[in-house]
Amino acid sequence: MIQKIKGTMDLFPEETVLFRYMEGIMREEAARYGFGEIRTPTFENTELFVRGVGDTTDVVQKEMYTFADRDENRSISLRPEGTASVARALIENGRYSETMPLKYYYIISCFRHEKPQAGRSREFFQFGTEMFGSDSPAADATVISLAASVLRRLGLKNVKLHINSIGCPDCRPGYRAALVDYYTAHKGEICDTCKDRLDKNPLRLLDCKNPPCAALAKKAPRTVDHLCEACERKFKTLTAALDKMDVPYEIDSGIVRGLDYYTGTVFEFIAEGIGAQSTVCGGGRYNGLVESIGGPSLPGIGFGMGITRVLLAMKEQGLDKEIVAEAPRLYIAALGEAASVEAMAITERLRRAGVYCECDVVGRSLKAQMKYANKIGAEYTLILGDSEIECGKAQLRNMKDGTQTEVELASFTI
Ligand code: ATP
Ligand code: MG
Repeated sequence: MIQKIKGTMDLFPEETVLFRYMEGIMREEAARYGFGEIRTPTFENTELFVRGVGDTTDVVQKEMYTFADRDENRSISLRPEGTASVARALIENGRYSETMPLKYYYIISCFRHEKPQAGRSREFFQFGTEMFGSDSPAADATVISLAASVLRRLGLKNVKLHINSIGCPDCRPGYRAALVDYYTAHKGEICDTCKDRLDKNPLRLLDCKNPPCAALAKKAPRTVDHLCEACERKFKTLTAALDKMDVPYEIDSGIVRGLDYYTGTVFEFIAEGIGAQSTVCGGGRYNGLVESIGGPSLPGIGFGMGITRVLLAMKEQGLDKEIVAEAPRLYIAALGEAASVEAMAITERLRRAGVYCECDVVGRSLKAQMKYANKIGAEYTLILGDSEIECGKAQLRNMKDGTQTEVELASFTI
């Protein structure tokens, strides 16, 4: 038997109903905050991600689905995330000369060759937002509040917001030096990957999940202690705004984010009780990104929310139980061929009027049809036999309380 690729998913209606529910709330909230939907290609020139995500990142070095294009000698990659594509699209289409800010959202699948486990797959779904053209803490607070609103509306109580500032090109070198000093003094204790990171990207050391490295990270110098005046002021304004907006958070110096393009504010929403893959949403400011892929200098901030992980958090709280597919308003049971044709006709008439209506298409006995109507949770049933067809009337039965009313077959609606 041919099987699906490891780390991908088949989603049946019981699951897709949950995805549609979540996505509906994401779209509604994005609209309330004035974000419009953007759609970009599923694959791009590999170079975009190498430059836009960063060639020292795990995503680019180990996780990208990269292949040679068939008709041209060029390398293409399936998108591992959404931000680089959105930045490319706005440069390519000259959107940067429009009135700021530019606010976009997307619901996409992303592809990363990772070790599949709960909350980590190779094709995964992401709700992402990007706001370009503002370097103000007000923009940071807006984007963070949008993510918080979505999670709040989904009913999640086990998710906490962690925020940090990792500084700008002015303060980063000082912090980087402090970090290198600290880890060089502990070089014997860190893992081999981290030894490599120490030269290439020391900030990433704080992200390492190996127990000895993680223990060292706890005592490492904190970015917030090395911020320049401007970064410190912005971070203070952001936290003051979040306080007043009633968006709870904790400052967490361990949040540094895995992608190269982050500057200033970074944040994660972390869920309790869903295992190791607990970051349901990660984001931050990426003021250098647009320029790094060939555009003008344009600040930006955004986030990516892992839809499957949000679902895990919802399931952990039992919030998925109430989200079920709509049940039919009416099931028409029919006995005999003439009645079956009439059932089809009435079903069609009601469907055209916008009613969710079902009738037998399998050729079940009347008894089995009634059992089926019950199973699918029909609110009402109508039983059609020869005598009902003859007099043009039938009994409409309310399945909840068992009451019946007579209806005219030709004209009744429900
Ligand atoms: P992680 O720390 O879990 O590897 P990341 O830093 O690589 O996450 P981002 O690139 O910031 O993740 O992606 C944003 C969000 O997308 C994450 O917070 C997570 O919820 C989700 N996500 C990332 N990778 C995966 C994956 N392989 N499977 C499912 N969801 C994912
Ligand atoms: Mg990752």
